[in-house]
Amino acid sequence: MSGANGTNGVSKPLPTHADAVVIGGGLVGCSILYHLAQKGWTGSVLLERSELTSGSTWHAAANIHGLHDITNISRIQHYTMNLYRTLEAETGQGCGIFQPGSLYLAQTEAREHQLRIQAAKARRYSMKFHEVSRDEAERLHPLVNFDGIRCIMYEPDGGNVDPSGVTHAYAAGARAMGAEIHRFTPVTGTEAQPDGSWLVRTERGDIRTPWVINAAGLWAREVGRMAGLELPLIPTEHQYLVTETIPEIAAAGRRLPSVADRDGEYYLRQEGLGILVGAYECEMKFWAEDATPADFGHELFPDDLERLEAGLGGAMIRLPALQRAGIKRVINGPMIWSPDASALFGPVPELSGYFCCNGIIPGFSQSGGLGKLAAEWIVEGEPTLDMFGWDLARYGHWVGKSFVRSRVRDVYTHRFKIHFPTEERSAGRPVRTRPAYAMQAEMGAVFGLNFGWEHPLWFAAHGEPREETYGFTRQNWFAPVGREVQMLRERAGIIDISNFAKYRVAGPGAEEWLNALFANRMPRAVGRSCLTPLIGQRGGIAGDFTVTRLAQDEFMVIGSGMAERFHARFFQALPLPAGTTFESTTERMCGFNVAGPRSRDLLQRLTNANLSNEAFPFMASARITVAGVDCTALRVSFTGDLGWEVHCAEADQVALYAALLEAGRDLGAGPVGSRALMSLRVEKGYGSWGRDYSPEYWPQECGLDRLVKSNKDFLNKAAWERIAANPPRERMTMLEIDATDADAWGGEPVFLPDGTPAGQVSSGAYGFHVGKSLAIAYLKPELARAGDTVHVAILGRDTPARVLDHPPFDPDGHRLRM
Ligand SMILES: Cc1cc2nc3c(=O)[nH]c(=O)nc-3n(C[C@H](O)[C@H](O)[C@H](O)COP(=O)(O)OP(=O)(O)OC[C@H]3O[C@@H](n4cnc5c(N)ncnc54)[C@H](O)[C@@H]3O)c2cc1C
Repeated sequence: MSGANGTNGVSKPLPTHADAVVIGGGLVGCSILYHLAQKGWTGSVLLERSELTSGSTWHAAANIHGLHDITNISRIQHYTMNLYRTLEAETGQGCGIFQPGSLYLAQTEAREHQLRIQAAKARRYSMKFHEVSRDEAERLHPLVNFDGIRCIMYEPDGGNVDPSGVTHAYAAGARAMGAEIHRFTPVTGTEAQPDGSWLVRTERGDIRTPWVINAAGLWAREVGRMAGLELPLIPTEHQYLVTETIPEIAAAGRRLPSVADRDGEYYLRQEGLGILVGAYECEMKFWAEDATPADFGHELFPDDLERLEAGLGGAMIRLPALQRAGIKRVINGPMIWSPDASALFGPVPELSGYFCCNGIIPGFSQSGGLGKLAAEWIVEGEPTLDMFGWDLARYGHWVGKSFVRSRVRDVYTHRFKIHFPTEERSAGRPVRTRPAYAMQAEMGAVFGLNFGWEHPLWFAAHGEPREETYGFTRQNWFAPVGREVQMLRERAGIIDISNFAKYRVAGPGAEEWLNALFANRMPRAVGRSCLTPLIGQRGGIAGDFTVTRLAQDEFMVIGSGMAERFHARFFQALPLPAGTTFESTTERMCGFNVAGPRSRDLLQRLTNANLSNEAFPFMASARITVAGVDCTALRVSFTGDLGWEVHCAEADQVALYAALLEAGRDLGAGPVGSRALMSLRVEKGYGSWGRDYSPEYWPQECGLDRLVKSNKDFLNKAAWERIAANPPRERMTMLEIDATDADAWGGEPVFLPDGTPAGQVSSGAYGFHVGKSLAIAYLKPELARAGDTVHVAILGRDTPARVLDHPPFDPDGHRLRM
C-alpha cells in the first residue's frame, strides 16, 4: 500500500503553510485542487481521510450529460465533458471515457418542450444536441422500443466515465503542477485565526492557510461543523443495478448510447456487455440524517430491489431485452443532497476564507466546471459565470432541518420532474410568513417562496382554482395576472413588497461608507433617493439598490430580497467608520407598493402629508403617517407607474394593509401579486437583479453606466476602470415577440433570421397593458439594431420578434412623474 502522501510508502511530512487546503479527495475536491494549481496556486494541499474516492465517488454510475435547463449549468457540464479527454492526454491517467452518445426521450408535450428548449440553447452555444427521427434513433440503439415517444434528441458526446480514473487524473494533474495530496489524513479541526487565516488541524500536524475548502462530500456537514457552520444537506440511499451480459448487446459489436427516458424516472446505459439501470424511487430512504458516521468507509447498503420495481418496470418496457437479463450486481450507496439538489457553492459570507463545494448530485457532469469556477472565485475573487442559483448564499438561517428533509424528499422522488419556469414547489412550506399572510390567503392569494418568505404571486377570484397549473405555455394564472396588471395600470394596485431586502445605515460616517461602497453618489439632501449599482470584482453588476437619505446621518437601503446573504459579502468588505452602524431591517419591516394612476388619491385618503407632485415629487421620500401607522414613504415604483413604496414596522402590517385595501375599494383598486409586477416592470423595460442584472453583465451593457460616478471611489472601482472603455459585448434591449400561447421567461436564445446566434433573453413576460409578448434580451449590438427582426426560441422554435428602440410602456416616464 502506498503511504499518506501517495508516494509509495514514504510519508512526506505535511507542510506547515498552504495557499489553500482542500478537505476531501473525492471527485470534486480533486478537481478544485487541479484548477487551483492551474491558476498558479501550486502550493495548495488536499487532505483526504482515507483513499481518494472514499465518499460517493467510488460507487457512482458516472454518467455524463451536457445539457441542463439552466444555461450556465449546461456551460459547466459542457466544459466538464470536454475536459476529461484533455485530462487523460495531459496526465496519462485513463479516465475510462465512453461517449457512445445519449438519447433523450419525450413522452409528454411538456418534456418535448423542455428538450426543444435545450436544443435551441445548444445551437446558441455550439453544443452537440439535436433532434433525430425514430428511424435514426432505432439505428443508434436497436434494442430500444420507441413506442409512445413523441420527440427524440441525441447528444453525441453523452456517455460515462470511470469514477476512479477521473478522480486520479485530476489528482495526477494537480500533483504534476506542484500541489500536494495527503491521503489517510483526516482533518480534525478548522480554526479561524485572529489574522484572518485558518489553522487546519490533523493528527499529523497543522497547516496554516488563507483558504479552507470544504469538499468533504458525504461528510460536508461534519467538516462544516468544525467551523461552526450548519450546512442544509441530508444524505439518501440511491440504487442502480447492472445486468449480466445481454446477448443482443454482445452481438451489437459496438457501445450503444445511453437512454434518458426521464418521464419514467430512471436512467439506463450499457455497462460491460450488460445494462446499468438506476432509478429515483418514490419510496426513498434517508440515511445518517443527523451526521454521517466517521467510520463509514467503502461500504454499501443492502439491496432493496422492491423499491426499484417501478423504475425497472418502465426500463423493461423501453428496453425489452432487459426482461430476460439476470442481475449481476446491485449498488446501493449514499449521496448527499441540498434542498434543491443544486450545489452549495461559494465562500461562506459569515466566514472569511472558507469555501464550500457540497451537495453535488451530478458530480461527473459538473466536476470540471465547478472546480474551474471555484478556483476563479478563490484566486480572482469572482467566478466568470453568474452562479447565484448554486451559491450557498441563496439559503439563509430560515432553513431548518424539517425544510431540508421535506425538500430533499421532494427533489429525490421527482429527480427528473421538469422544472417549469414558474414552478413553486410546496414541500416544506410555509417557512416564514408575514402577519398579512392569513389576510392574503383569505383574498385568494397563490403564494411563492422568496428567500424563505411566503409572498403572493397572484390572487384567484372567488371560485377560481387556487392551484397553479404548470407548463412552458401560458397557464391558469395568465388571466388573473392580466386582471391585476390592468387594475393597476387603469386605477391602482397594492403590492406586498415586504420581501425586498432593507438595511439601515446610521451614524456620522454613513454617507461616507455608502459612497465608498456604491458606484453612484449618495443623495446629498434629506428626503431624496438614488438608484445605484454595486460593482463586482470583474466590473459587472453585483447588485442594484435604492438608497434614501432619511436624515442627515441615516439612510435606508433597499435591494433584492433573495440576494441578502449574497450582498453581505460586499457589505462586509468595507469596514464601518467609527460610530456608524449597519443593520438589516428586512425581518422587522414590511412594505407595500401602492401604484397606478389613482394611487395618489388612494394614499391621500389615509394621510395628512401632502402627496402632490410639487410637495412629493418622483424620487422624494418622507416619514409620514398612513392610517395612523408610522411609515417611510418613497416616491418610487418598480411598476413604472405613479406610485409610492410605504414601509412600516412588521407589527403594523395588517393595519396598514387593511386600510390601504379599504381606501382603494371604491377606486376599484385591490391586491396585486409579484407575477403582475414582473409583467409591469418588463413593459417598462426595468431590469431586475438575478435576471437582467448580474455580475456577468457590465454597466455599459445594461445602461447602468450613467449611474457609475468615476469622480469618486467605490468598491471594485479598479475593476470597473479596467472595463469601462470597452464597448458592450451585448446590449440590454427590448423585444416584441410574435408569440401566441407561450411567452419568453429567461434564457431563451435569440438568433438572426439566418440562424446566427445574436444573444439571449434575460427576462420575458406578456405585457398585459400594452398587449404584447415582450422580452428583455442581451443582443450583440453589431448584429441586431432597433427595427430588426430576430428569432426568439419560444418552446425551442424560432419565433419572429422585433427589436424595439424603447420600452412599450410610457417610454418618457410621464406616468412616474405625474
Ligand atoms: C449510487 C450512486 C450513483 C451515482 N451516479 C452518478 C452518475 O451517474 N453521474 C454523476 O454525475 N453522479 C453520480 N452520483 C453522484 C456522485 O457520486 C457525486 O456527485 C460525487 O461523487 C460527489 O463527489 P464529492 O467529491 O463531492 O464527494 P465524495 O465522493 O463524498 O468525497 C468526499 C471525500 O471527502 C473525504 N473526507 C470527508 N471528511 C474528511 C475529513 N474530515 N478529512 C479529510 N477528508 C475527508 C471523504 O473521505 C471523501 O473521499 C452517484 C452517486 C451514487 C451514490
